Amino acid sequence: MNHDDLRHWSKRAADWAHDYHATLRDRPVRAQTTPGATAAQLPPQAPEAAEPIEDIFADFERIVPDAMTHWQHPRFFAYFNSNAAPASMLAEQLANAMAVQGMLWQTAPAATEIEQVMIGWLRDALGLAGHFTGTIHDSATTATLCAVLTMRERALGWQGLEDGLSGQPPLVIFCSDQTHSSIDKATRLAGIGQRNTIKIRTDDTLALDEDALIHALGLHKSNGKRPIGLILAVGGTSVGASDRVGRCIEIAKAHDLYVHVDAAWAGSAMICPEFRHIWDGIDGADSIVFNPHKWLGAQFDCAVQFLADPAPQVRTLGLRPDYLQTLETSEVTDFNEWTVPLGRRFRALKLWFLMRAYGLEGLRTRIRNHVAWAGELCEAIRALPDFRIVTEPRLSLFSFRYKDDDAATEALLTRINADGRVYLTQTRHKGEFVIRVTVGQFDCTREDVMCVLDVLQELAE
Ligand SMILES: *Cc1c(COP(=O)(O)O)cnc(C)c1O
Repeated sequence: MNHDDLRHWSKRAADWAHDYHATLRDRPVRAQTTPGATAAQLPPQAPEAAEPIEDIFADFERIVPDAMTHWQHPRFFAYFNSNAAPASMLAEQLANAMAVQGMLWQTAPAATEIEQVMIGWLRDALGLAGHFTGTIHDSATTATLCAVLTMRERALGWQGLEDGLSGQPPLVIFCSDQTHSSIDKATRLAGIGQRNTIKIRTDDTLALDEDALIHALGLHKSNGKRPIGLILAVGGTSVGASDRVGRCIEIAKAHDLYVHVDAAWAGSAMICPEFRHIWDGIDGADSIVFNPHKWLGAQFDCAVQFLADPAPQVRTLGLRPDYLQTLETSEVTDFNEWTVPLGRRFRALKLWFLMRAYGLEGLRTRIRNHVAWAGELCEAIRALPDFRIVTEPRLSLFSFRYKDDDAATEALLTRINADGRVYLTQTRHKGEFVIRVTVGQFDCTREDVMCVLDVLQELAE
């Protein structure tokens, strides 16, 4: 296959993609396959001889789509959506065609500068203060790891990078019991350790209890530990919990803690001014992550990290071996110094296409619709006999239970996903098995959302 063939097959792929998206509603949302079924259709070894692309493409059509869970299905209400607005898919095609590796300004000047401008556009769109700069990562997990490494090195005067962690005082990081597992992953990998990741209890509103935080700070200090950072949740994954950001930051500043805010999902909704109260006080944060690849519509992957001051993170992550020196290093930003990997994809292009093709107002309208429809569906489920709303809508996420019983709720969920018209998943809230509903697919309609009600009515006993 050469570039002339690629021109032909790219058009075939575009036609395929169009038809795939146009017929998604006819497919079950969740893959109806069994473990090992796909692998069994592939030969165990790579071919020695070249094969015709016709055969490869035909095998793709035959094997792959039916064994996929369709994340762009308009009735995907399970995990937080990982959207791919058409304009962002187009940008990805162009980025793939150039296939640049943007580790340095010099290796990708336009990618670097468009990334800087997009960070500014998003900062303003989310209503953040003008001092924030930032960068784009693959995932929120990576951004959180970067923030935790920065907390660690800032506290150690950047000596951990030189000497390692043995011999250092035990460091502790605080967060609420509603934070995402990516925080645990980051603190484990950064050498802080799970036991030094202190989960502060939450109150009735599911926000971190500030008195408990102050108490824990005192306790760990008197036990010879060194508090270094606070990680706050804005829109937690399980049921959408948010901390009182401003109040928590005040406490953190009084104890010289570095503050990172995980708004991976809810951050996108901050383009709507009426939702910004959920992160009141955010401008005091040191680091904030949100995933435009979730609710905003940028194709996976795209996680934006805003930084009040990039210097501590760049000092933590940056290295300049001889072979990465360029003449203009002092005048430009080399984004590899802001992130874990050296190599970087051109992710800013899809943000540029996305914000221009829909406009912030178009993106706001979608998010507002999702929130309104989730509220409407929640009220309809509340009115059904045998159903109980367990957590009220937080933006477009709520949870419910059936017959107030774990087994009955779980059995209902199994029937829902075998039926295939919609896709829902579970979590546990205060020990109870609940079904989560989150609305956020880019092309979903009110009818798609209300389809959940039809399915529940049919499948409830
Ligand atoms: C999705 C999510 C994450 C993890 O995001 P990745 O980009 O997949 O690493 C972290 N925190 C919250 C609140 C999330 O919703």
